[in-house]
Amino acid sequence: MANKIIVAIDGNSGCGKSSTAKVIAEKLNYTYIDTGAMYRAVTKYFLDNNVNINDPAAVTQALENIHIRFNKNPKNGKQETYTNGMLVEEDIRSLRVSQNVSAVSKIPAVRDKMVAEQQAMGSQKGIVMDGRDIGTVVFPNADLKVFMTASIEARAKRRWQELRENGKDTSLEEVKENLEERDRIDSGRVHSPLKKAEDAYLLDTSDITFDNQVDRIYKWAINLIEEK
Ligand code: C5P
Repeated sequence: MANKIIVAIDGNSGCGKSSTAKVIAEKLNYTYIDTGAMYRAVTKYFLDNNVNINDPAAVTQALENIHIRFNKNPKNGKQETYTNGMLVEEDIRSLRVSQNVSAVSKIPAVRDKMVAEQQAMGSQKGIVMDGRDIGTVVFPNADLKVFMTASIEARAKRRWQELRENGKDTSLEEVKENLEERDRIDSGRVHSPLKKAEDAYLLDTSDITFDNQVDRIYKWAINLIEEK
């Protein structure tokens, strides 16, 4: 496909953005970038190294030492997150990281560094990027913007089932509380809060199947690529 576009997918926690974005990227033969994984990797580093998030100098120093990369696992073709050469893909999905990531993501210095890296990754277009501020801050001129949402019940149930399938023993209530808390912090923060870009398509996935949500976004993307 000659005319590559940027697809920006934002939305609430746990509404299936990453799984959807991954499939869209595969179908378009584009690069998928999970920006949530980047904020999670920073959070894990801060926790592991006891970085005081209220100390700006400590945060700046730590950020200089964090190098996040995505590599494809040759065995299963899945994209995995590495911090300073160390595979962190599984650890960054833990409840410990989930419970701290929104506080870390509020810090302006953290956002500035992540946004600059994300913009560099998308400079050649041909990417599908998911997060909270992709259509508003990272790529305000993205060709296609989608804002995904779903009821808290649907989101909590899906995320809880996913954690259980991966052998994580958490209660549905705990998962629901974490999603609500993250939405609250992500939407309320001063620096690039979670909100729908005015020109984004709104996609409520509470009552549609996964294939259906993929189909809709894929069609929007294909229409745009063909118009170019
Ligand atoms: O997408 P995921 O749920 O893995 O993101 C984890 C957290 O990272 C979010 O709850 C949010 O606090 C933060 N985040 C962000 N901006 C992004 C992506 C994620 O603040 N672009």
